[in-house]
Amino acid sequence: HGQSAMRFAQFKLVLLGESAVGKSSIVHRFVKDSFTDSRESTIGAAFLTQTIQIDANTTVKFEIWDTAGQERYRSLASMYYRNAQAALVVFDITQESSLDKAKYWIKELQKQASSGIVIALVGNKLDLEEERKISKDEAQAFANELGLMYAEVSAKTGEKVKDCFKDIALKLPLEE
Ligand code: GDP
Repeated sequence: HGQSAMRFAQFKLVLLGESAVGKSSIVHRFVKDSFTDSRESTIGAAFLTQTIQIDANTTVKFEIWDTAGQERYRSLASMYYRNAQAALVVFDITQESSLDKAKYWIKELQKQASSGIVIALVGNKLDLEEERKISKDEAQAFANELGLMYAEVSAKTGEKVKDCFKDIALKLPLEE
């Protein structure tokens, strides 16, 4: 009939990164399209899903595990990333230490996650450009070196959040 088949794919995605970089806020923006300044911190991990349309015939459902950044939950994270197909490793562009923590998580993923995992390094709080401590060039160069995607977003304004998830979906193995 000249119509192409509809494609549907489902992927597990995990968020990792230092506490307070905005992981929960990014998920909240993506799933609910809203932002609150006073989010309670995640205990252990939170699970949410969101479905997006990639093109006219492709729909992707993300099963999202938002992990807590605190040290005391660190050993639990592997339970969430072990069988994830995608990971968002988040840092805060205004906090130098948060990029070091992101580097730690990327190493962990490369050692322990499945070899085909799509990893995106994500600099959050793009709305705080005037307080920026980590340049876009520095983070982009680091991501390029490791063959990772790089995105800068703002959970607060919503800028680039959906694009970031969409770009990840496009890197995932969508069957024909
Ligand atoms: P998590 O611990 O990594 O999950 O971080 P949260 O989502 O709890 O956010 C930590 C703090 O940063 C909260 O006070 C948020 O309101 C704030 N925050 C999160 N995303 C942004 C953002 O894009 N811009 C700004 N200005 N603040 C943000």
